[in-house]
Amino acid sequence: MKGQEPRSSSSCAACKFLKRRCTPNCQFAPYFRADELKKFAKVHKVFGASNVSKILNEVPEEQREDTVNSLVYEADVRLRDPVYGCIGAIASLQRKMVELQHDLLVARAHLAHYAARNTLFMDDQLSTAGFAELQVCNGLFENLNQNSLDQSGSFIEFSQVPFP
Ligand SMILES: [Zn+2]
Repeated sequence: MKGQEPRSSSSCAACKFLKRRCTPNCQFAPYFRADELKKFAKVHKVFGASNVSKILNEVPEEQREDTVNSLVYEADVRLRDPVYGCIGAIASLQRKMVELQHDLLVARAHLAHYAARNTLFMDDQLSTAGFAELQVCNGLFENLNQNSLDQSGSFIEFSQVPFP
């Protein structure tokens, strides 16, 4: 009875989860192996099997694995953070980026300050040029904070951030 082997043992995770027969051309089978029940359960809970099916149909075959990985990631984060989902992770990384860019500006300002002071010592002149430069940099920090964060502290527009 070749060709009529029972498929229940080789059903993909989606068909196992949905308690249906897995066919040779099942669109879920390549992306949800039999032992990946949790992977499908998460995606099903967040997006629903029919939406996942629709999304996969809209995507060229060579991009379907990446699509499934993305859906699984999004579903996983959404289940852990029902309010923000993966936007929460993105916003958190963007906040971290602003902090690091701020730290970089501070470090550059210090560097400029010490370099200017060193030059002044070498020229044997007393001046506050180094401090003036530091104040210019501080002005940049204020612009940075006003441009990139709204009152709730969330991300608005990074293209305005004045970085060299
Ligand atoms: Zn299947």
